[in-house]
Amino acid sequence: MALSQSARKTIEKEANAILAELKITKPPVVASLLFSYIEKKFGPVVEAPISSGSIGNKKIEGFVQSGKGMFIIGWDAKREKSIQDYIKIHEVGHILYNHGDSFRKSVGGYQNSEEICDYFALCVVVNPKMLKRYWKINQNILSLANIFETSPAYISKMLSYQGLSN
Ligand SMILES: [Zn+2]
Repeated sequence: MALSQSARKTIEKEANAILAELKITKPPVVASLLFSYIEKKFGPVVEAPISSGSIGNKKIEGFVQSGKGMFIIGWDAKREKSIQDYIKIHEVGHILYNHGDSFRKSVGGYQNSEEICDYFALCVVVNPKMLKRYWKINQNILSLANIFETSPAYISKMLSYQGLSN
């Protein structure tokens, strides 16, 4: 089931509020800033890059584990850096969804948390407000990907969600 339009709007608002609280007004938005947000609100974050890209036979894209008031965030450290940041922020989304009451209430428990965390990560990395501002003066997707320090695919995805394209 795809996210509803209103769930997407809500996730955008949540991402905007977090970026505003962190006083981030322009790209790139890197994962370490989101980790510091989690540390301030919920508890210490332990970073666990998976250098082999797998644990045993299991391929790992990312995971988060919580216990004793702290969070272990793991990710596939073999991916390119921009994808690693996206994965880390997706995992931050899981912490917000599980521990951030306002976030969970506002997106609703009936929605798929993987889709919520994917869209949350997209809204942080390619923030729609920032993208619209840059799009007015620069409609080159590769150049925008450089500015946002992300993959062109994520720029295109957000453009289409926002009803923009070139
Ligand atoms: Zn996930």
